[in-house]
Amino acid sequence: MPPIKRNPKAPRQIPPEVAPNVRVQGGAVEVAGGFTTEQAQVESLRCLNCKDAKCVEACPLHIDIKSFIQHIVLGDVASAFDKISERSPFPGICGRVCQHELFCESACLLGKKLDPVAIGSLERFCSDHHRQFNGKAPVVKANPTGPKIAMVGSGPASLMASFVLAQRGYRVTVFEALHRLGGVLIYGVPPFRLPREILDSEIARLEAMGVKFETDVIVGNSVTLEELFHEEGFEAVFLGTGAGLPFMLNIPGENLIGVYTANEFLTRINLMNANETGADTPVNIGKHTVVIGGGNSAMDAARWSKRLGADTTILFRRGRAELRARAEEIEHAEQEGIKFEFLGAPVALFGDENGWLNEMECIRMKLGEPDSSGRPSPVPIEGSNYRIPVDTVIAAVGQAPNPTLQRTTPQLITNRGKIVVDVNRQTNMDKVFAGGDVVRGGSTVILAMSDGLAAADAIDKALKLQQKEVEIVGAEA
Ligand SMILES: Cc1cc2nc3c(=O)[nH]c(=O)nc-3n(C[C@H](O)[C@H](O)[C@H](O)COP(=O)(O)OP(=O)(O)OC[C@H]3O[C@@H](n4cnc5c(N)ncnc54)[C@H](O)[C@@H]3O)c2cc1C
Ligand code: SF4
Repeated sequence: MPPIKRNPKAPRQIPPEVAPNVRVQGGAVEVAGGFTTEQAQVESLRCLNCKDAKCVEACPLHIDIKSFIQHIVLGDVASAFDKISERSPFPGICGRVCQHELFCESACLLGKKLDPVAIGSLERFCSDHHRQFNGKAPVVKANPTGPKIAMVGSGPASLMASFVLAQRGYRVTVFEALHRLGGVLIYGVPPFRLPREILDSEIARLEAMGVKFETDVIVGNSVTLEELFHEEGFEAVFLGTGAGLPFMLNIPGENLIGVYTANEFLTRINLMNANETGADTPVNIGKHTVVIGGGNSAMDAARWSKRLGADTTILFRRGRAELRARAEEIEHAEQEGIKFEFLGAPVALFGDENGWLNEMECIRMKLGEPDSSGRPSPVPIEGSNYRIPVDTVIAAVGQAPNPTLQRTTPQLITNRGKIVVDVNRQTNMDKVFAGGDVVRGGSTVILAMSDGLAAADAIDKALKLQQKEVEIVGAEA
């Protein structure tokens, strides 16, 4: 075989995108396209195939990035896809929503001098290519027969834990409170970022491995943890219940008509089609929307608001550098004509005699010393208040764990609603593990998945150890 001619100096490839003026009219149409085969080749030839591949270390799932890219270099995309599948069944999801700039791409050696390799887009390419040319995902192990494990919640943490445990022969059942699977990936992330067929097909891979799913079951209400263990025969439980309880603004006027949390706004649209005429639970979007916050929820809510026809502004109390959303989504929001007002915070909301929001008072901020988040703290500038007309306000200022299960399981140790775990994601309760946003607070998809992976390892170890003890006791008898 002739030696491979790498070209790290080639410009980083840019995936195609739907034009901003078209996509804001197009509702759920996916904005970012995937690499063509030619682009994937050029991009993978930029990779230096480093001896000590820092990208692998920096990926919380430790996907063998270096090897999958080399398979693309050799034109063997099927093997690239299989390489990713060894560690993750979700390349279509992660290729689209993972914050690569914070993880693998931030560690890419090429990024020291040039743009890092577009690892996320290459991951997505493998998944799209597989769907187009093969369609059937590799089923690692079907019809497992081992001990029964329950997953509570169907977000990325539980999905990842289910994958690992089903692969190792455990019988896994996922209980989900909502009628659709995926956690934030279905109720929060809009379809124009993550098309539902991608999410559904990657969840279907788990089903093909023998994972069972039960929707509309609230663990803590419909069934307790006690009952899962003692009546339903589960031998371990993983709690991946997320952080679905939105923080409020805690300012006067918050109850006016036209004020939403991002959680409610996005759930109504993403899960209940509130963007469509005649929807049972419509959202009343006026001419001017202000979204408060700087994370992924804020970008998603603002981009939906724009698609519903409102002139939309994101109000953020710090500066652009402190925004927490994915870099790509910030850029997409800017391209779509969403305005950003930095260093400002809401103080009060005002409405008309019928209770409809019509005005908002804000205050200017300056940046102070770093706070507990490591970012410069926002400090109000006294006397700088100003008012703006507004019809809709969407609060996207963070979220806390959903308290249902914690309330009905008082013996579970929590800290301000977050479940406390040790390094193995073990809670204070025997055989009860937890991970993802319910432990971390609002975090990221890939960290939720890595918690699921770590918890699955710990569950496997705990149940194997238990099995060994039984064997030893049996031998003595
Ligand atoms: C709008 C939005 C956009 C985001 N965009 C990104 C992004 O682009 N990239 C990124 O990396 N991160 C993003 N994040 C963060 C990321 O989605 C979360 O960190 C991740 O989904 C957490 O996964 P999880 O499995 O812990 O919980 P979740 O995804 O929250 O899933 C928890 C599930 O548990 C269910 N549940 C709760 N209580 C119970 C119960 N008692 N019984 C049964 N089921 C229950 C819930 O209904 C939910 O479906 C975003 C977050 C939001 C809100
Ligand atoms: S660090 Fe960058 S250049 Fe090195 S192997 Fe990983 S992707 Fe390739």
